[in-house]
Amino acid sequence: MTRFLFEPPAIRSIPVTGEDAACPVHRIFCVGRNYAAHAAEMGNEVDREAPFYFTKSPHALLASGATLPYPPGTQDLHHEMELALVIGQPVFQATRDAARGAIFGYGCALDMTRRDLQGAAKDKRRPWDLGKDFEGSAVVAPLTRAEDMGEIGPQRLHLSVNGETRQDATLDEMIHGVAGIVADLSRFYHLVPGDLILTGTPAGVGAVRPGDVLHGGIDGLDPISLTIGSAT
Ligand code: MN
Repeated sequence: MTRFLFEPPAIRSIPVTGEDAACPVHRIFCVGRNYAAHAAEMGNEVDREAPFYFTKSPHALLASGATLPYPPGTQDLHHEMELALVIGQPVFQATRDAARGAIFGYGCALDMTRRDLQGAAKDKRRPWDLGKDFEGSAVVAPLTRAEDMGEIGPQRLHLSVNGETRQDATLDEMIHGVAGIVADLSRFYHLVPGDLILTGTPAGVGAVRPGDVLHGGIDGLDPISLTIGSAT
């Protein structure tokens, strides 16, 4: 048995609603510009041919209901309310039907973003990591099994900050649907159980400040909440 020099990182997981077993998280993939109105509000064109991706470390995972200390290095922390899905079986170079069958379940998620750092990276044609992948930047609520969620499409997605609605859309506004995303991503990765995919945010993203309380929901899923704390 390997003797480790340091304590190995803890396995990050997401609860499954109504069950006592949790879903261990392997990798975190995120889809960019998957709602036309959000791409437009950011001044971007949408690509209807194929989705594009960025990643977050599993150590960015934060449970719903937590307080996220205002992160370092930014003056412009933004919320992005999204549908998350988790892969439940190996999937590689899959058809859409096979990809759909590989989805274990869904959850509400927040892709928290240091918008000023992301913007600076875009300007300099640099990677988005500093803007997107930081501690607590991937907030995920308890998961619901795919068979209990049903077909993705008509469900309403919404997010409020301090009781004021900021984001409100339906999942059928997604440019690339869940099966298309999984099938496309499986062209580039051997996806495995525990891979988590955040499927992009609709319009209405905006800044949050210490003391703000976020509440989000998607029809059929457990709601998500997040409190923004002071910088630490
Ligand atoms: Mn996002």
